[in-house]
Amino acid sequence: MRKDVKKETGSEKREPDTKQKEPAAPQLDFIRMIVKADTESGKFGGRVHTRFPPEPNGYLHIGHAKSICLNFGIAAEFDGMCNLRFDDTNPVKEEVEYVESIKRDVRWLGFNWDDREYYASDYFEQLYQAAVDLIKKGKAYVCDLSPREIKEYRGTLTEPGKDSPYRSRSVEENLDLFERMRKGEFPDGSRTLRAKIDMKSGNINMRDPVIYRILHAPHHRTGDAWCIYPLYDFAHCLSDSIEGITHSICTLEFEDHRPLYDWFLDQLGVYHPRQIEFARLNVSYTVLSKRKLIRLVEEGIVSGWDDPRMPTISGLRRRGYTPEAIRNFCDRIGVAKRDSVVDVSLLEYCVREDLNRRAPRVMAVLNPMRVVIDNYPPDAVEELEAINNPEDPGMGTRKVPFSGVLYIEREDFLENPPQQFYRLAPGREVRLRYAYFITCTGVVRDPDTGDIVELRCTYDPATRGGDAPDGRKVKSTLHWVSAAHACEAEVRLYDHLFTKADPDETAEGEDFMAYINPDSLRILHGCFVEKSLAEAPVGAFYQFERQGYFCVDPDTTRRGKLVFNRIVTLRDTWAKIQKTLAPR
Ligand code: ATP
Ligand code: MG
Repeated sequence: MRKDVKKETGSEKREPDTKQKEPAAPQLDFIRMIVKADTESGKFGGRVHTRFPPEPNGYLHIGHAKSICLNFGIAAEFDGMCNLRFDDTNPVKEEVEYVESIKRDVRWLGFNWDDREYYASDYFEQLYQAAVDLIKKGKAYVCDLSPREIKEYRGTLTEPGKDSPYRSRSVEENLDLFERMRKGEFPDGSRTLRAKIDMKSGNINMRDPVIYRILHAPHHRTGDAWCIYPLYDFAHCLSDSIEGITHSICTLEFEDHRPLYDWFLDQLGVYHPRQIEFARLNVSYTVLSKRKLIRLVEEGIVSGWDDPRMPTISGLRRRGYTPEAIRNFCDRIGVAKRDSVVDVSLLEYCVREDLNRRAPRVMAVLNPMRVVIDNYPPDAVEELEAINNPEDPGMGTRKVPFSGVLYIEREDFLENPPQQFYRLAPGREVRLRYAYFITCTGVVRDPDTGDIVELRCTYDPATRGGDAPDGRKVKSTLHWVSAAHACEAEVRLYDHLFTKADPDETAEGEDFMAYINPDSLRILHGCFVEKSLAEAPVGAFYQFERQGYFCVDPDTTRRGKLVFNRIVTLRDTWAKIQKTLAPR
């Protein structure tokens, strides 16, 4: 399917413009409009009951976050409930590890399912009885075609299918065979139970779909109790029905399955939820499919599901994204009926916006250049006052130590500066943030390589705090740390995992793996952060002044040394993109 690559958000509502004068009345998306109309008309007795139904065959990603925010969000807004249901019908690909990670991620995003934690596997007996019911009604039959034959008989989009030779088995024979399938009398793949619908239907999903298959494999919850398992389409609509779901919200690819769900529920004469489809979330420069994410993990492209470059919830969490930022993102993209790709810079905008309000500012030097201040009293140390967050005076101030030997950023000095370069250069005066004006008086070189290894400077004691009493101006302000007090740290810088905006759109004979960005991770060793970060806990986030937002990686405790992840740079590409967008 071709997707519209839009810089836009794919939504009819909301812009990341926080400066609106008055909050506009909330505009409902099409799903909320349906739900609202249903509650007003008294459909489902005015109840709203949704569910988030992950299959536990991988970790959740940002696309799932959209679905989570939608389902739990709608339930909360309409005073309803939302279930967490594991669609665990495939014992081969599912694991307890995934169940645990899903629960952790949904909780971390800020949602709560109370005691409504359900599993499709809990309904296996009910589903089996429903299948028996279909057989008794003459609406299902045991078929002995092999999987390959079933495919051949199915036909194509342009050709009708052919009836299976086993289609006219008697109800008694079907009941007997299905029971024996359950008892384990037949090997895997030898028989299936199929719905008896219409092999000539224009909708391939209706051409006698398989509803049970034989699989002698233990299940992570039911163990060896079953050797036949229901297929997703059968289990899913019935699970929704059993739980009394009112609005079964799912992604567009299930639109063509809706007639099949309707058929099952109508034939069985059971409670019928309303299904509503919306467009999946796609984000540029990444892939959002568990199947593909598993490959990145298994082939060692990333360090695991929680690698900070992964679009998984656990990866975003480790990277330093906040639940607030992710929820905000999901809110902004809204829901639509048409597939589109959301620009990753919108996600970055959302985390930047959240962290700008909340992250303490600190100084860190990632590429250090030693600076010796010749006229500073030897061995003296001063504690200078620094503001923790100019956006939030309530966050107060802290003391940063200043001394005669400092580090500044190597990029903040040029021996022969071009015209536009206002930072430090020989003979030039600049401000050190919260400290003093300094002037560069000379450089020290490595005698072998000729490289500059140290800058010699003088400071003006009258400029303490960063202002000259004589009103003298400087053109730039640099961040710095005191060499004797700073803590050494490793800093990891991330770039997009893929080099192509839509890695799913592949050329002939290629797959998405062809577009892996070889430079998506850069590790900087020997960085220095200010002393106040010495005991920073894992997950804590900061703005490193002039550099971006960073958080403490769990490797800090594992390795016993400070490791930071760059969450996002300060540069707001989204704001720039917005300017180029046509007014709406
Ligand atoms: P994947 O293709 O990544 O494996 P999936 O749809 O198979 O995704 P499920 O565990 O079945 O994964 O998904 C749980 C719920 O999340 C479903 O309701 C599904 O529609 C929704 N969902 C999955 N991916 C997205 C996405 N990219 N955008 C929005 N919703 C999604
Ligand atoms: Mg799925």
